[in-house]
Amino acid sequence: LSPTNAFDHRADFPALPADWHYLDSAATAQKPQLVTDAIARAYDRDYATVHRGVYKRSADMTLAYEAARRRIARFIGAASADELVFVRGATEAINLVAQTWGQTQLKAGDRILLSVLEHHSNIVPWQLLRDRIGIAIDVCPLTADGRIDLDAAEALLTPAHKLVALAHVSNVLGSVLDARRAAELAHGVGAKLLLDGCQAVPRLPVDVAALDCDFYAFSGHKLYGPTGIGALWARAEILDAMPPWQGGGSMIDKVSFERTTYAPAPARFEAGTPHIVGGVGLAAAVDYVEGIGLAAIHAHEAALVAEARERLARINSVRLFGPADSAGILSFAVDGVHPHDVATILDEEGVAIRAGHHCAQPLMAEMGVTATARASFGIYNDAADVEALARGVERVTRIFG
Ligand code: PMP
Repeated sequence: LSPTNAFDHRADFPALPADWHYLDSAATAQKPQLVTDAIARAYDRDYATVHRGVYKRSADMTLAYEAARRRIARFIGAASADELVFVRGATEAINLVAQTWGQTQLKAGDRILLSVLEHHSNIVPWQLLRDRIGIAIDVCPLTADGRIDLDAAEALLTPAHKLVALAHVSNVLGSVLDARRAAELAHGVGAKLLLDGCQAVPRLPVDVAALDCDFYAFSGHKLYGPTGIGALWARAEILDAMPPWQGGGSMIDKVSFERTTYAPAPARFEAGTPHIVGGVGLAAAVDYVEGIGLAAIHAHEAALVAEARERLARINSVRLFGPADSAGILSFAVDGVHPHDVATILDEEGVAIRAGHHCAQPLMAEMGVTATARASFGIYNDAADVEALARGVERVTRIFG
């Protein structure tokens, strides 16, 4: 695998300076101009509220917003747009599941299975629920190369487990979960499978039907879309049985002081005026990535990571984390140098990487570090970015000699 010149979409991102090597797409992706154009249009020429107005512009905006829902639902292989709840992002999606499905379907003594490599947003909501209702949380270990160890998961799972909640792609290591096997294992003991798809949707073709999961959560801003919008997908029969979450406008059927009835899903989970422009902007981003093709994006990023691993492995003091076939994300350490110093020196070279615990402190503890340096790739990256990264790290080793 080596990055090809055939994959060249940098021109779609004219705001990205030519001499800037942005390698922090796992935190948030830069936006193609067609997304910022769609956002601008939705805020000026087309702007109006949704679901309520009888005047034409509001009716048109409602059509656009609901078309966006259908577009995003189709993108992840949902059977129906009614299964797609707009949320602020993956964090809100997982909290929603914990506080509605979890709060009503789980009881004291039930168990859930997470993994060591989860983002805090797929740990803390379950701890809050544990403290409220007394469930137990089990933690699946990793293989030596940094994948969720599904053999270990199989050994841990019991009929007491009601939920398995795992990252589809690790935001630290880039390791890709064998989600179909995870679904088989979860369903084998009667548990549901929640996938945190934050890092997967921008990097892999995702089809929730083929994966056979029960919940799928992701954020729009990592998928080249706006911040403040994301999606929770859940099977229709699961969503239909979930009680409302936040109360307010839009989520109701009829309200009186004696008794209120609620709208069907997804409206039941979308109280208040929604992030109208976010939905429209995210649909534009989905159009954009599908136009390129997720398989092509995956192949491109895999080639860049492979090249980066190869280049960095030549530097003696560099330690690489994670599996060789990581999806677009590479964590590393330079012996004797704090990752923040690595990132600061790289920044002087115009290379933007992330340093820290990446909201995965249990994984850091497992790896015996407090932080890593992380380079993560996106559509706009190419071999020049890998070269700049490697030269920057070489300079780090010269400075710290
Ligand atoms: N899960 C994973 C794997 C992530 O990478 C992130 C973002 N770093 C999140 C969840 C949370 O996403 P957000 O902050 O957009 O809600």
